[in-house]
Amino acid sequence: MRRWTITLALASTTLFAQTTTDKPILGFTASNAAKEHALEAQFDAKLNRDDLRNWMQRLAARPHHLGSDYDRQNTEFIASLFKSFGYDTHVEEFQVLFPTPKKRLVELIAPEKFTAKLFEPPLPQDATSGQTNEQLPVYNAYSIDGDVTGDLVYVNYGVPADYDELERRGVDVKGKIAIARYGGSWRGIKPKVAAEHGAMLTPGVGATANAKRIDRKDSDVITKIPVLPISYGDALPLLRSIGGPVAPPDWRGALPITYHLGPGPARVHLDLEFNWNIVPCRDVIARMPGSDRADQWVMRGNHYDAWVNGASDPISGQVAMLEEAKAIGELAKSGWRPKRTIIYAAWDGEEEGLLGSTEWAEEHGDELRQHGVAYINSDTNTRGFLDLGGSHSLERLSTQVARDVNDPERNVSVLERMRDREQTLTTSAEARKEARDRQLIRLDALGSGSDWTPFLQHVGVASMNVGYGGEAGGGDYHSIYDSIDHYTRFGDPGFQYGIAQAETTGRLVLRLANADVLPIEFTTFADTMSRYVDELTKLAQTTRTEIEERNRLIHERAYEIASDPTKTYVSPKAETPAPYLNFAPLQNAVGRLQQSAREYDRLATSIPSDAPNAAVREAALDHALMHIEQALTTSQGLPRRPWFRHEIYAPGFYTGYGVKTVPGVREAIEQKQWSEANQQIEVVAGVINNYAAEVDRAADIARGRAE
Ligand SMILES: [Zn+2]
Repeated sequence: MRRWTITLALASTTLFAQTTTDKPILGFTASNAAKEHALEAQFDAKLNRDDLRNWMQRLAARPHHLGSDYDRQNTEFIASLFKSFGYDTHVEEFQVLFPTPKKRLVELIAPEKFTAKLFEPPLPQDATSGQTNEQLPVYNAYSIDGDVTGDLVYVNYGVPADYDELERRGVDVKGKIAIARYGGSWRGIKPKVAAEHGAMLTPGVGATANAKRIDRKDSDVITKIPVLPISYGDALPLLRSIGGPVAPPDWRGALPITYHLGPGPARVHLDLEFNWNIVPCRDVIARMPGSDRADQWVMRGNHYDAWVNGASDPISGQVAMLEEAKAIGELAKSGWRPKRTIIYAAWDGEEEGLLGSTEWAEEHGDELRQHGVAYINSDTNTRGFLDLGGSHSLERLSTQVARDVNDPERNVSVLERMRDREQTLTTSAEARKEARDRQLIRLDALGSGSDWTPFLQHVGVASMNVGYGGEAGGGDYHSIYDSIDHYTRFGDPGFQYGIAQAETTGRLVLRLANADVLPIEFTTFADTMSRYVDELTKLAQTTRTEIEERNRLIHERAYEIASDPTKTYVSPKAETPAPYLNFAPLQNAVGRLQQSAREYDRLATSIPSDAPNAAVREAALDHALMHIEQALTTSQGLPRRPWFRHEIYAPGFYTGYGVKTVPGVREAIEQKQWSEANQQIEVVAGVINNYAAEVDRAADIARGRAE
């Protein structure tokens, strides 16, 4: 009752904070959880939206791509902020290859003449859109130079299946110029393969000034053919001039024309030339040493370079991270210290292929393997719903954090708002039941698309990506219109979601840094693995029946008989029948992991404790827990891309950003490489068995049977 009388007189957020104080937090004793809630209330009180607005005004005032003068000024500004917050701060500089356009020409030379504008017009209502002198023009970084003329072919999204479809329709792409629409896969899947080889041209090691470099022509990172993005306005005359067969229904875009495949009669001249400059890439690294377990690093990062002004991507995320760091700095100034070391990183060169974070993670790979506890990433942040992805051992930690953060628009927890949205959007009864009944957030698995990739997929540090979004519209992405004017009109006008983001990521950092025992759980991961194995067995089954069915139709000449004799149709070729795969080793490994996980998680409810010798055992337990994600990596990495070492999460070989879980097995099945699929099942089974053994070891320490 007393609570009510107090809180009625105060803001509603106070009511919220008060009712959360007795809620349990994974990894904390009950009394330390109460202290943690009190600390977080102090942390929240230090967050100020005006800082976010002011810093965005400063950081997004001018174009600031990698290597630009304003990017360098932002480096210094961010470093000076971290210093003023009390962090031990330095700038780490790498030298990276960053091509910028020297010449860009796209012209239609037949059946009519048209020269593409390749230009985004400034808008009067967007104050920074006219800063043309400093803006990068529209282009694809890491396209090769080239001057080519050829007939035009429409290739839909330009993914492998689209080329199969063209072949079936008798359309030859060789020596032609292809035009593809955006979507279906990442826009620069070739250049993005940058990450597979470490950052640009210095595969596998940090690109410091004297690192060994390979020749540009030997790099897999540069595209083999010249590439340029164009707007729909420039694309329209080109697409309109293509003849040949009409495109299949699901290949048709939104332009008011009939889509044809070609080739020709549209003929295009494409002439591209780039300045192949080596530019500095500067990461700002800010450290707050831990009081007790300083050798355990909780890492937090967001990039600060943009394609143009980048108010939304990445400055909205950057200013929320700065505010979080400021508030934690102020807590430290008042005498509090984190138990573990906290490291903030503002990354440069993200847009060109995660250059700053990749160089840093490679340069510090050994230290990260030794000290890294977790890496929390963020990027663009706008109004809307909490979106979380990451290592599945962190599901309870993230759910408890979402439970304790208030949604600024609806005044419920961000967890509840996220849940309600899921329930209203899901269409299947099964998914709705899960959204309603599952106590924990189901984290999305991480593919690529921002700076967690080197931490999670190369080094094996448990990682998360956190951000709000879903209500800001869009259309400004990577353009000159991603501006302060646009963001403060549509992105997050009151910076309330910037504050919600700081409250969310700040809690993740503070709980990871302060917990008595690292807040990691294993049943969540084991259940996820079991789902993945079910998916894989189903995938193998459907792939096998599809091949059988198609071979039968080919044998019966069904494709030929069914096709229109006046149109070209090349019947598919019969394929080798698929064998049954042996999933038993993987199924057994996951079964064992489920048992080990249940046992550890059961024990984890009784640890940490207030017993006198607890601290020693907890520190030993931390050492077992902090390296456990690395058990999911292998030194040889994934087939054909050894830089990616995580056997459970990777971006797809052909999807770019999109995740492929258990990628070695899944992609072997998709590519119908059956012996490789069987080998990869063994590899992943081995990894899961090792992981289960590590969980058993942690359980032994928790029981006091081992140190
Ligand atoms: Zn970004």
